Amino acid sequence: MGEFVRDRLPDPVGYFEAYGVPLVGPGKWKTGPCQFHGGGDSLRVNTASGGWICMACGAKGGDVLAYHMQLHDLDFVAAARELGAYVDDGRNYTGQAKPTTLAARDAMAVIARELLILFVVIADARAGRVPSDADWARFLTGAGRIEALAREYAA
Ligand SMILES: [Zn+2]
Repeated sequence: MGEFVRDRLPDPVGYFEAYGVPLVGPGKWKTGPCQFHGGGDSLRVNTASGGWICMACGAKGGDVLAYHMQLHDLDFVAAARELGAYVDDGRNYTGQAKPTTLAARDAMAVIARELLILFVVIADARAGRVPSDADWARFLTGAGRIEALAREYAA
């Protein structure tokens, strides 16, 4: 009988960079390539909690364990073991034996950040700068994702 030890999960920045997801950007939320659909810069990672979400394909989870499980199609114990967070000779179970889902608070932070991007496009339009096709596509994607997240987390 083993034991999951959440404290032994790798820190989010170290995990993502070690597994081929370089994170860039200022602040707590970083941006990186999404390995689920192969996109360039759509993954948002909360470097404090490890929560993550792809603004393009919608893949998401609350910690690096959820990421590892989903990307490699592993069950909970196999993923925790690969990440060094599962002790096979554990005595008393104390951990929370499941990956966390993306917290509503994290989802709101992502929405706030996406809204900023939308405001930039709108502000440019007001200033007479016609959005490029790429900016417009980004705008539509962002608006769609915000709506989808809002629906998912509605009570
Ligand atoms: Zn994706």
